[in-house]
Amino acid sequence: MSGMPGPGRAVLPETVEVVRSSRVVLPGGERPAAVHVTDGRITAVTAPADVPADAAVTDVGDLVLMPGVVDTHVHVNEPGRTEWEGFATATRAAAAGGVTTIIDMPLNAIPPTTSLEALTVKRAAAAGQIAVDVGFWGGIIGADARRLHDLAELHDAGVFGFKAFLAPSGVEEFPHVSMDVLAAASRHTARMGALTVVHAESPAVLASAPAAAGRAFSSWLRSRPPAAEKAAVASLAALAASTEARLHVLHLAAAEALDDVLAALEAGLPLTVETCPHYLTFVAEEVPDGATIFKCAPPIRERPNLDRLWDGLAAGLFAGVVTDHSPATPALKSVETGDFGTAWGGIASIQLGLPAVWTQARRRGHSLVDVARWMCSGPADLVGLGTPGPGGDGGDGGDGALAGSKGRIAVGADADLVVFDPEASFVVDPQLLRHRHPLTPYAGRTLEGAVLATYLRGHRADGDRPVRGRLLAR
Ligand SMILES: [Zn+2]
Repeated sequence: MSGMPGPGRAVLPETVEVVRSSRVVLPGGERPAAVHVTDGRITAVTAPADVPADAAVTDVGDLVLMPGVVDTHVHVNEPGRTEWEGFATATRAAAAGGVTTIIDMPLNAIPPTTSLEALTVKRAAAAGQIAVDVGFWGGIIGADARRLHDLAELHDAGVFGFKAFLAPSGVEEFPHVSMDVLAAASRHTARMGALTVVHAESPAVLASAPAAAGRAFSSWLRSRPPAAEKAAVASLAALAASTEARLHVLHLAAAEALDDVLAALEAGLPLTVETCPHYLTFVAEEVPDGATIFKCAPPIRERPNLDRLWDGLAAGLFAGVVTDHSPATPALKSVETGDFGTAWGGIASIQLGLPAVWTQARRRGHSLVDVARWMCSGPADLVGLGTPGPGGDGGDGGDGALAGSKGRIAVGADADLVVFDPEASFVVDPQLLRHRHPLTPYAGRTLEGAVLATYLRGHRADGDRPVRGRLLAR
């Protein structure tokens, strides 16, 4: 075991033309193949020997070649709270962890992405310093005429959908909305064909729970009961039925809400759900008191819940597994006091999501094809990046070419590729993370699977490299 991944990183080339592996993760399964890259796109996927005589072949042997991870749930916080996390640090951490596309949440930066002006500010803040591709969510904080106009402008400007909170968000400039306001906004987003993504905890259920205080993790857990998630998911299913808006439940932690998700899917409702690596890794019984780096909302729950989340994944109930990377400063995480009542809720993990999920997945008999479905093609499909389209390229468009798609090793897709050693293991040393702050609940844990190289459109994106990320528009 080494401090961080890993062997071979230095010898993989800066740019790839043909990559050959005995283990290429393709949508239909894993097999030996050669992946051909021209101008940043995958132009062919052939038998390993079927390569032009003059091609520069990068043979990675038995290392896995898989698609870049698409993380649709990331809080970058720049501008306004750049001391929490910024575009340079978040995207370098992403690239180091095999993530080639992130979609930035509309809150925690100032201004929040609730107007075209704010989106313009955030795009300007990101431009020129991103190591991976970056798209944006817009935010729903009301449904009066002015707000609906903002949503339409944001939609036209290429946001990937809109986020709303049903319970307080934690920052005053991004107020939560009632179900009535969400319904009004959703009728609007439905007409636009836009996705609406929701922090789904019922404020009424939360209000009836005891407030969190002190160093005991159990206090935090009791303050955010599973019933709050279950009630909110049931309300969203009803809303999906009445408005036909495409609704997506963010960071589901409570497995008991999966009954409602299953019922919605069986009814053909346009409702999807995601979960996060930390809900699939940690259990409440093992969180030490005072360990506020584990605080997030909804909370990490008990072991039986974790097993049921894995059952839900296996059953295909989740559209994706995304990190909800949401860092803050050590002071805001109440690292000194360990007080769960005052600590910022949010877990920093973007560099570790892929090995964290693989570590658990392999023990439960899942393959990297499954992991790629949960972390690459699933999230890409959720936001419309899974198939080539006219949008998706804020960088060097102008030639009329279709933008590449994300999340799959397939002809026409962007050559966003990860060389992954599934047999490597490492102990997480937070000082080696590229996040702005060395704070993560994964510190000291042994994770399996090492990202040896990350390619964005055929060029290395990890390490201290030129920044080749592009701003994405839907
Ligand atoms: Zn979040």
